Amino acid sequence: MAPLAYRRVVVKLSGEALAGPEPSGIDQATIDRIAADLVAARVLGVSLGVVVGGGNLLRGATAADKGADRTTADVMGMLATVMNALALEAAIERLGAPARAMSALSMPQVCETYERRAARRHMADGRIVLLAGGTGNPFFTTDTTAVLRAAELSADAVLKATNVDGVYSADPKRDPNAVRYDRLSADEALERRLGVMDFTAFSLARDRRIPIIVFSIREPGAVESVLRGTGRATIVGG
Ligand code: UDP
Repeated sequence: MAPLAYRRVVVKLSGEALAGPEPSGIDQATIDRIAADLVAARVLGVSLGVVVGGGNLLRGATAADKGADRTTADVMGMLATVMNALALEAAIERLGAPARAMSALSMPQVCETYERRAARRHMADGRIVLLAGGTGNPFFTTDTTAVLRAAELSADAVLKATNVDGVYSADPKRDPNAVRYDRLSADEALERRLGVMDFTAFSLARDRRIPIIVFSIREPGAVESVLRGTGRATIVGG
C-alpha cells in the first residue's frame, strides 16, 4: 500500500456534498457514508479537521439577492454549517470514533467554541474535529475558513471534497473537450481562471503554500486514496 502523503489535513466538505442526490437539505445516507470515509482516514493515524459548508441549507449571498439583509443572511449561513457539523459529529460517533464539533460562533449549549489550541489538542488526541460556524464573520466563505484553519492548525493540505474528480479546463458536464489536470501551480490556476476556490481562500493558500487537493467525495474510500496520493484528484499549489 502507498505510504501516507499527508499526516494532518483539513477536509473541506461543501454543503452540496452533504445533500447527496437531493438538491438541498441533509441526506442521512450521504452523511453516514462520508462519516465512514473520515473514520477510515482516522484509523490510518491521520489528524483530521473538517470544515463543513452550509450551501445545502442557506447561502448568504443567494438570500441577499432575494432581498434579505446580507449580514443577517451570512449569520444564518454560518448557523447552517453548525447544523451540518452536528449531523456529521453524530454520524462519526455512531461509528464508534471520537469527534468534536467546534463553532467559531459561541453557542456553549450546542458545542465547543473554536479555539486553536483546543482544536490542535483534540486532533492530536485522535478526535475528528468538525470546524463549524465558518470564520465567525460575515462576507467570508467556508473555503476561506478551510484554508485559514489549515494555516492555524499547521495542516499539510486542504482536501476539497466536491462532486467532481478534480479541476478541469472547462465544465466537464458542458464541454466534452474539457481536460482534467493532475497538478497545477497556484499561478497557473489563477491565470487560467479555474476558480478552484474564491479569491480570498486561494490567495491565503498561495501565501502559506498550502496545497489544495480537489477530489470527488462520491467514491467511497476517496479520502483514504487522496491521503495515499493514489486517488483521482488535482493538486493545486503547495
Ligand atoms: N459564511 C459566512 N462566513 C464564513 C463562512 C460562511 O458568512 O466565514 C456564510 C455565508 O453566507 C455562506 C454560508 O455561510 O454562504 C455557507 O457557507 P458556504 O457558502 O461557504 O458553504 P458551501 O458552499 O461550502 O456549502
